[in-house]
Amino acid sequence: ETLDKGLEKSKTTFFGKLGKAVAGKSKVDDEVLDSLEEILVTSDVGVNTTLKIIDRIEERVSRDKYMGTDELNTILREEIAGLLSETNSGEDTEITVPKDKKPYVIMVVGVNGVGKTTTIGKLAHKFKSKGMKVVLGAADTFRAAAIDQLEVWAKRVDVPIVKQKMGSDPASVAFDTLSSAVAENADVVLVDTAGRLHNKVNLMNELSKVKRVMQKVVPDAPHEVLLVLDGSTGQNAFEQAKQFTKATEVTSLAVTKLDGTAKGGVVIGISDQFQIPVKYIGVGEGIEDLQVFNKFEFVDSFFK
Ligand code: GDP
Repeated sequence: ETLDKGLEKSKTTFFGKLGKAVAGKSKVDDEVLDSLEEILVTSDVGVNTTLKIIDRIEERVSRDKYMGTDELNTILREEIAGLLSETNSGEDTEITVPKDKKPYVIMVVGVNGVGKTTTIGKLAHKFKSKGMKVVLGAADTFRAAAIDQLEVWAKRVDVPIVKQKMGSDPASVAFDTLSSAVAENADVVLVDTAGRLHNKVNLMNELSKVKRVMQKVVPDAPHEVLLVLDGSTGQNAFEQAKQFTKATEVTSLAVTKLDGTAKGGVVIGISDQFQIPVKYIGVGEGIEDLQVFNKFEFVDSFFK
């Protein structure tokens, strides 16, 4: 229900436009395909993924010789679900914490302002609600506000936070965080890192160093690298995904701010382009406003 509410704008926009494009037409022709292309691009699906979808539909049209506009929804839905299936194989894609990896280390990356801190807070709440012991690490040391904000979330969720003063070495904070998590027998560690996208080499060096130092405490850390992207920023989100996947091995995505945006299509494009599963979507500022990504629900809400 919240998902429907959250994606309402994407839905009306996408579906409304599609309805307009096919109004008065009974079959899918070049004109309909052109409109569809434009609608997908303006919904931030991204050019490459849009062309892939259009190609697949063209293929079906030429194979079957005819496609009614009334079928178009069903077929688009299938194609989009198919694209999402290539990266999100299960129905729900939540991060699962295996019992034999303790502490389970999740390194969280993303540029400032995308909702990284908020997502960490919401995730901490999710894990804690499942009875897990959570520790937060404030290794985004560039801005005092980042540390303060994470501390506010730590208090709200009531989990311990490891921090140093602003400007300290992120790797050193990560080291302290993991050491503390081991000492306290924690189940999950969420490490907030690198809020800067200065240049690719620096980002890569910084993230590699954080990883290397983490591995002194937990040899196979990090177990997950979660990239947080702001779903309302369209092409910026694509660009950030490109930079971060070049700098480090990103294992999962959280796409935030999908409430109040007409840009829900970014989820489709990014998950297709980077072949990384979207595990969570942010649909508000509150503690409960982080949903486990479910591709079927997502596709349905896009079309309902
Ligand atoms: P950070 O700089 O990446 O750590 O970003 P923050 O976590 O501080 O979030 C920046 C702003 O975005 C804050 O005002 C958050 O409340 C807001 N925010 C984060 N996630 C969401 C979301 O899913 N929906 C909405 N509407 N706002 C969000």
